[in-house]
Amino acid sequence: MANEGQRPQQRPQRPKRGFNWFSLVYLVLLLGFAYMWMNSGTADPLKKEWMDVKDTILTSGDVDKLVYVRNERKGEIYLKQSALEKYKNQFGGREPKGGPHFYFLVSDKFDAEEQLDKLAESLPAEARFRVIVEEHKSYWGPIIEWLLFPLMLLLMFFLFMRPMRGMGGGAGGGIFNVGKSQAKLYEKAGNVKVTFKDVAGMEEAKLEVKEIVDFLKNPKKYTALGGKIPKGALLVGPPGTGKTLLAKAVAGEAEVPFFSMSGSDFVEMFVGVGASRVRDLFRQAKEKAPCIVFIDEIDAVGRARSKNAGFTSNDERENTLNQLLTEMDGFGSNSGVIILAATNRADILDKALMRAGRFDRQIHVDLPELKERLEIFKVHLRGIKLAPDFQIDFLAKQTPGFSGADIANVCNEAALIAARKNKTVVEKQDFLDAIDRIVGGLERKSKIITPEEKKTIAHHEAGHATVSWLLPNANPLLKVTIIPRGQSLGAAWYLPEERQLTTTEQMMDEMAATIGGRVAEEIVNGRISTGALSDLEKLTKQAYAMVTYFGMSEKIGNLSYYDSTGSRDMAFSKPYSEKTAEMIDDEVKRLIDQAHATALQVLTENREGFEKLAALLLEREVVFSEDLEAIFGPRKGGVDPNKLLREDEPVEPQPEETAEKEA
Ligand code: ADP
Ligand code: MG
Ligand code: ZN
Repeated sequence: MANEGQRPQQRPQRPKRGFNWFSLVYLVLLLGFAYMWMNSGTADPLKKEWMDVKDTILTSGDVDKLVYVRNERKGEIYLKQSALEKYKNQFGGREPKGGPHFYFLVSDKFDAEEQLDKLAESLPAEARFRVIVEEHKSYWGPIIEWLLFPLMLLLMFFLFMRPMRGMGGGAGGGIFNVGKSQAKLYEKAGNVKVTFKDVAGMEEAKLEVKEIVDFLKNPKKYTALGGKIPKGALLVGPPGTGKTLLAKAVAGEAEVPFFSMSGSDFVEMFVGVGASRVRDLFRQAKEKAPCIVFIDEIDAVGRARSKNAGFTSNDERENTLNQLLTEMDGFGSNSGVIILAATNRADILDKALMRAGRFDRQIHVDLPELKERLEIFKVHLRGIKLAPDFQIDFLAKQTPGFSGADIANVCNEAALIAARKNKTVVEKQDFLDAIDRIVGGLERKSKIITPEEKKTIAHHEAGHATVSWLLPNANPLLKVTIIPRGQSLGAAWYLPEERQLTTTEQMMDEMAATIGGRVAEEIVNGRISTGALSDLEKLTKQAYAMVTYFGMSEKIGNLSYYDSTGSRDMAFSKPYSEKTAEMIDDEVKRLIDQAHATALQVLTENREGFEKLAALLLEREVVFSEDLEAIFGPRKGGVDPNKLLREDEPVEPQPEETAEKEA
């Protein structure tokens, strides 16, 4: 995999439009500019007085013809091409091309035709010129010229206005529709292909939204007992856990109209547009009731209104939020409109939005657990051609901490990797490669590393691996590599236990494993390198969290300066005295020193095994937990990753799965 290709990008297909009016506008503008440019090099004819002209120009023999426009009482003089040079300085270098070169106006008492005839007769033959009498009937020429400029201004105005309108709104609507809501309406379930079957795991969340759908279908069942139907539900959870997917599934299954829009659709550069879009959305929703309104990424508008106005306030967003709050209060709870919203930042949402009566229900969507990951894999493996003897349960075990979106990505990536190797089916190794790649980024085999550096990296990673293997409370190591990937030069993969609580001992052992890399460098080289930057950052953060958040330091005691409301600005005012601050710093240092001492002890006591591991890493570049077991013996206490991965729970065959394989 020396030169890995880019991930293929899918071009979104634009809906075809019958005729693009804007190309016409561009064309007109272009023609207009071209016309102006062509005229710009020429000058207008110079005005002369009849008395002047009569004795000078007209008698000079330089005149080619004279056009008398009867209805304008205007004479236009065209010079001979050969005589132009003579008059050049009169025009300041910019002579009127092709003429007329001069003109004169006469009063209506003046009989021009007679005078001109007289003049012509008095001239010598070589100075004679033609006299043409005309009437200008068309007034359109000057009018068009007059209109051209304002017209172009107007067109430009339209052009600049265009990007400001909702881009996703499609072809419809003019600039007067900015205040209209941008919600997409799914009237019939047939428009949406996603169903609850496509959403794996999330059983509780699914149950909640299914109930909401049920409220709308038979409200009587719930209101008969005096209960009120909730107005809204808020889906909260980390990115990629399937919140949007779940809402889409609701749209697919609800059989009621479903309005979908994103919080950022409310935000526009015009003042007042957001509020008016909210109003419009709710007006439409009430017309279509019973229905569901889904607002994705609601934090774009729902962010807490700032207390110190004028400093970071955003009036437009606040107006929009106020309107949203008002609208949610404005309709009775049984009006048949239910609002679903999704966010991954519930902590920054305005408290007013979360109070009962608005989003009565909060549905928490967490990162999937082992069993749920298996289900999600099953959903995404549906379309993938797997090797015949493929075991899918190892996938879920190998992917702790992955979100649903990561899992979807793994499946896709594995298929691409297999395709790159010209395989006809996707195998276990392809999935392992895909997982590594998603965790660590691209392998960068081409990165130049000196043998000396490589040795240091091997010892560093072996240090992490040794300490984490030998300390019973640390996360068990899955594998460690010294292949540079993305930003890192080497990496160790751990298998985090899926635990909800972490004890002080676990934290301390993990910190020892984290600093193990640097300690290894100290022991082997006698000097340290910059390679431990991210380790130290993680370590420091964890130590501060232990002391100031979790109350895990004896000296500080059971105090927590954690602020779940997020309203306090820790950067400006610390909630503790200078003395406590000093104590905190001391405690943090003590914890880190302690972790350092533990790592040092483990590594010196097991120097032989540690060196063996480093040598193995240098040789093979990748070392797995089996190898660690061979060197150090099985893990004492804690979780044995080898045992966990070997565990062969019988996975009951799923009927749909066998059908997939045969197909
Ligand atoms: P978010 O929670 O950030 O809105 P999405 O709903 O957009 O996440 O999920 C992104 C993608 O991840 C989905 O399109 C789907 O392919 C996959 N995914 C996430 N969660 C699940 C799940 N529970 N079951 C199946 N696929 C999932
Ligand atoms: Mg989303
Ligand atoms: Zn490290």
